[in-house]
Amino acid sequence: MNIILLGPPGAGKGTQAERLVAGRGFVQLSTGDMLREAIANGTELGKKAKSIMDRGDLVADDIILGMIGERFEAGDTANGVIFDGFPRTVAQAEGLDALLEGQGQAIDHVIEIRVDEEILFNRIETRASEHGGARSDDTAEVLAKRLDVHRQNTAPILPYYEARGNMSVVDGMMSIDDVAAAIDEILKG
Ligand code: AMP
Repeated sequence: MNIILLGPPGAGKGTQAERLVAGRGFVQLSTGDMLREAIANGTELGKKAKSIMDRGDLVADDIILGMIGERFEAGDTANGVIFDGFPRTVAQAEGLDALLEGQGQAIDHVIEIRVDEEILFNRIETRASEHGGARSDDTAEVLAKRLDVHRQNTAPILPYYEARGNMSVVDGMMSIDDVAAAIDEILKG
């Protein structure tokens, strides 16, 4: 089963993805984590991505799709993938469809985790203080930019998936456990 978790930064996509990995053995593909790993390893890709991420802008679609394509070649994705933070543009959504089609697969569920913006600012501040500033893009200023980018580039992919009829919305302002239960309910259906 292939699942996409959509939602603005701080919506809880990573938290829910980790839970699904632990509970169901899915492979989690988080493009944000992959980019942070590239930065930590000092690769060329990491060097290119760092300043873009620190500004809150999006890394180019071809780089992201290349990264996902390579990850698919690892061969451990056949039992199901949970995509977190990807796709973030319509071009990425189209690229993902083409990639999956080539493997005789498709997206089974698209789950939007919906959260009000003022709550996101509080969450990102909490995440920044809990992780001791581990993420250089977890600041109020960069979050404002990331939300802007989300509105302009990522929100337009909602209609792309809505048209498929396999998209669900979860209230991301509930507790982590309640969001998890709502997601479980969707995956059962
Ligand atoms: P995230 O951890 O998902 O919030 O991603 C952190 C940052 O990495 C984003 O603000 C972007 O700069 C970059 N990034 C992560 N995923 C993508 C993606 N699918 N497309 C473009 N940029 C991305």
